[in-house]
Amino acid sequence: MPELPEVEITRRGIEPHLAQRTITGVVVRHRGLRWPVPRNLGSILKGAQIRSVARRAKYLLLDCGKGTLILHLGMSGSLRVVPAAETPGPYDHFDLGVGEVAVRLRDPRRFGAVLWHSGDPARHPLLAHLGVEPLSGAFTGRVLHAASRGRRVGAKQLLMDHRLVVGIGNIYANESLFRARIHPRAPARRLSLARCERLAEAVRSTLEDALAAGGSSLRDFVQSDGSPGYFQQHYFVYDRAGEPCRVCGTPIRRVVQGQRATYHCPACQRA
Ligand SMILES: [Zn+2]
Repeated sequence: MPELPEVEITRRGIEPHLAQRTITGVVVRHRGLRWPVPRNLGSILKGAQIRSVARRAKYLLLDCGKGTLILHLGMSGSLRVVPAAETPGPYDHFDLGVGEVAVRLRDPRRFGAVLWHSGDPARHPLLAHLGVEPLSGAFTGRVLHAASRGRRVGAKQLLMDHRLVVGIGNIYANESLFRARIHPRAPARRLSLARCERLAEAVRSTLEDALAAGGSSLRDFVQSDGSPGYFQQHYFVYDRAGEPCRVCGTPIRRVVQGQRATYHCPACQRA
């Protein structure tokens, strides 16, 4: 599943091809995504100029002046820049054409989204209640600390609460907690300010390392070689049950927390 770093790398990959360009064609091959693609999308978009390509949480926002095209990659989606005339594959459900090239959505499981919003995108129902961006200056240990008081959840569930902070999925929650040396089940309400600051810093460095790793895959995705554009990384704990901790050698432990697999080092992350 594309996580926030993949979405940000995707944004950086498509931006030079789309920003300040005029939309010349829209092709919808399958309307049945997570929500139906609007029927009149082609007539809305054709001739519009894309002013900017932004991101909010895992949503890509293409500002078209009179409104915003909102894209989400869902569970299995990817965007690639292809020659507009390239023959589509069976899962290539949507093309946004800008002259000779198109940005093409491939989404085998069809949980992605292509939506149009004519008002302020920040007030769209999917975006209106989202928390702070983890890579922005607004995400601090103090914010985490204030939000965790009185919350009867574990530290991991706190990080994955998108009303507090967006875009931290299961992988990055596990990895950030390891870096901060905090047990995933540690009661959020008892985390000290110092530990919250360590955790916010760990989230930031984990995501920034992922972005750096993903930067090298950018070339693949604009060259449209068919690869999904997600990147492999060197995880500390995620999906490493039974393998030795990269810091202390203790076997990594897997438990299920809130129906999601949680990985931690019982020595580095004491309860
Ligand atoms: Zn360890």
